[in-house]
Amino acid sequence: MQIRFTPEQDAWRQEVRDFLDAELPPEMGFDVEFDEDEALWEFSVAFTKKVGAKGWLGLNWPTEYGGLARPPIDRMIMSEEFEYREAPLCGSISWGLTAGSLLAGGTEEQKRYWLPQLGRLDLHAAEGLSEPGAGSDLASLKTTAYQDGSDWVVNGQKTYTTWGTHADCLFTAARTDPNSKRHHGITMFLIPYDLPGISMTPMMNLGGGQQNHTYLDNVRVPEEYMIGEVGGGWKMIMNAFYGGGIHAGHAYYERTFAEVLEHCRREKRRGRLLIEDPLVRQQLGQLALMLEQARMLTYESVSNYNNQIPPQFGGALGVVVSKEMRPRFFEMCQEIVGPLSQLKPNRFAPMGGQAEAWYRQSYANHAGGTSQVKRMVLATRGLGLPR
Ligand SMILES: Cc1cc2nc3c(=O)[nH]c(=O)nc-3n(C[C@H](O)[C@H](O)[C@H](O)COP(=O)(O)OP(=O)(O)OC[C@H]3O[C@@H](n4cnc5c(N)ncnc54)[C@H](O)[C@@H]3O)c2cc1C
Repeated sequence: MQIRFTPEQDAWRQEVRDFLDAELPPEMGFDVEFDEDEALWEFSVAFTKKVGAKGWLGLNWPTEYGGLARPPIDRMIMSEEFEYREAPLCGSISWGLTAGSLLAGGTEEQKRYWLPQLGRLDLHAAEGLSEPGAGSDLASLKTTAYQDGSDWVVNGQKTYTTWGTHADCLFTAARTDPNSKRHHGITMFLIPYDLPGISMTPMMNLGGGQQNHTYLDNVRVPEEYMIGEVGGGWKMIMNAFYGGGIHAGHAYYERTFAEVLEHCRREKRRGRLLIEDPLVRQQLGQLALMLEQARMLTYESVSNYNNQIPPQFGGALGVVVSKEMRPRFFEMCQEIVGPLSQLKPNRFAPMGGQAEAWYRQSYANHAGGTSQVKRMVLATRGLGLPR
């Protein structure tokens, strides 16, 4: 099989590359996913707003909501280039999850009002889905909301709120029908953080950066911040990730692989270049295979999307592969680079201490759901095994 891009798609890739060359200092590496480093954060926001100003955050959205209505493959090409350059694109909870939910279940008026703001990152949303007792089993959430006049009164605790301290609003789910069970009776809200009754405490992440616990104590939310239909929250949660389009995570591995390969061409162990060591060559081969496997799964998703084929097993296969591959991939990078790769950045750490961070972060990968739960989906929906 040969995969080729059209001349138009190649030209689009070049346009993205030119933009990144103009906007990103070549020597700078970024990792803002869960980081709250203030200087990096400011740079990331400024950079992301430039991407938004070009209409690229909402690249695939309909034009009436501030998008460019471009095909999913263009999003994937853009994502490949951004990932390879480790571009500091932040706010995926705004233009990905929140926008995706609105597109899936917001009213026409809400889509026209919120989406252009999210697409420019004028509005920064945090995600308030998980709770201390409701992560994988989100349908057991305990946060409640009841109507009082024209307000909703929200009470509960959310956890793992990434970027909470930087956000303007919390995109959250609450049970609005006390007699409902499980997936029914859940409603979505976009709650402004400056309303009285919202507080946060930090939750430090071993992988880097921080999340937060968010407390909602009798927060009176005006009804215009209720999103979609009352009780229609579950459908929105299930469709939420559409807004950001297809993510090309394989390009990030490709970048890492290129750096490790370069290290092996340069560095010697016991008088011999690493690249000449048969064991290292075998390990490099395995890394290359892993990243190729990830690339093929992404390309398959784009192709399915183009041909309107629903993702097989709800996309669970790709999630299991990418989440379980990540720690294995970075563990192998550390084995290749050697024991000093366990050092944080200092003058003895090879590759500027990057390998230590790669490995540590590779295990902080529960965001968006765990691979064990996706394995359950594969077992039941994929293989038809009993629950
Ligand atoms: C870095 C990071 C950022 C995050 N950011 C956000 C955020 O911004 N907003 C937000 O709302 N949430 C966020 N989360 C939370 C994330 O969505 C949850 O961690 C995830 O859904 C898992 O829930 P849990 O942590 O409660 O683990 P649990 O659901 O308690 O699971 C614990 C373990 O049991 C396993 N397990 C659970 N159920 C089953 C089952 N049925 N079969 C087999 N194994 C099972 C899981 O795989 C896991 O290994 C973030 C998490 C991380 C790590």
